[in-house]
Amino acid sequence: MKAVRLVEIGKPLEMQEIPLPSVGERDVLVRIKAAGICHSDAHYRAGTSPVGTLPQTLGHEVAGVVEEAGSQVTDLKVGDRVCLHYLLTCGDCYYCSLGSEQFCPSGRMIGKHCDGGYAEYIAVPARSAVPLPDEIPFEQGAILMCSSSTSFHALRKTRLAAGETVAVFGVGGLGMSAIQLAQALGALDVYAVDINPDKLRLAEKYGAVPVDAARGDPVAELRRLTGGRGVDVALELIGLPLTMRQAVQSLAVFGRAGLAGITAKPFELYSYTELLGREAEVIGCSDHLLHEMPLLLEYARRGQLDLSDVVTRTVPLDAGAVNETLDALERFGGEVRTVITPEG
Ligand SMILES: [Zn+2]
Ligand SMILES: [Zn+2]
Repeated sequence: MKAVRLVEIGKPLEMQEIPLPSVGERDVLVRIKAAGICHSDAHYRAGTSPVGTLPQTLGHEVAGVVEEAGSQVTDLKVGDRVCLHYLLTCGDCYYCSLGSEQFCPSGRMIGKHCDGGYAEYIAVPARSAVPLPDEIPFEQGAILMCSSSTSFHALRKTRLAAGETVAVFGVGGLGMSAIQLAQALGALDVYAVDINPDKLRLAEKYGAVPVDAARGDPVAELRRLTGGRGVDVALELIGLPLTMRQAVQSLAVFGRAGLAGITAKPFELYSYTELLGREAEVIGCSDHLLHEMPLLLEYARRGQLDLSDVVTRTVPLDAGAVNETLDALERFGGEVRTVITPEG
């Protein structure tokens, strides 16, 4: 089968012909219909986030159709539409039994530690394949499994309660989901902070109040918009020390800042005025959980999470097209979300 793979760190991905993956008795083989191209993949290609043994097929946002089911698989059958939980975990260890499988010691991420979805097929344990309702297109099912679910997990980590206010720093793929999910969870007002006018316009269409950080200090603007109070929840989805700082500075008393953007750089805080004095909290948000997927998919099925404007481009399974998309993501530009559709 065809696969677009990371062969050498810092180099463009390459198309390779590789054997079909083998299917264990508790696995399913999935014919890939859609694979999202994610900002994380740019980090893997550049080497800023380490991957498993090379060469490696990237792609962790995957949806498709069950092509073959192992002999012990009972709850999925050939032809079922599925999307994949990208963390492959043991299901039995301490963290797995807590339902916090992102800390499973034997956990592996598809498209990072093992071959992922920039390919025609993928084999995964059946427990990682979540049924995808007919109402949700494959392209949307794919990106639901990363950007949307990471936003959902972050909102759950920040304990967003009905009637609270939320600021979302960075309204790309994660942010557009965060805006809608915050509303689904009962947020009173959602503020979208970005410097890209197109993204701010889209955020406004989804019901957020746009805050253009290119025009002035977003912290001051958020204070103004909340009558001086600040926001109850701020999500940082970019991975920049500046916006992490701003997220914390925007908080109200008892506010929670959820950090989900990845950076290797530190960020500074005035501990007394910005944290202790407000009993504010800074919360790390890592990945998302299998048990969160059914509710997330239900919000999408009902249209409370609408991604139809978020997937703005589809590309074929082609190394050149994938590399160009990753280049654009590295420049913080380009499309909001690009998805590979191997079957066109
Ligand atoms: Zn992703
Ligand atoms: Zn485990």
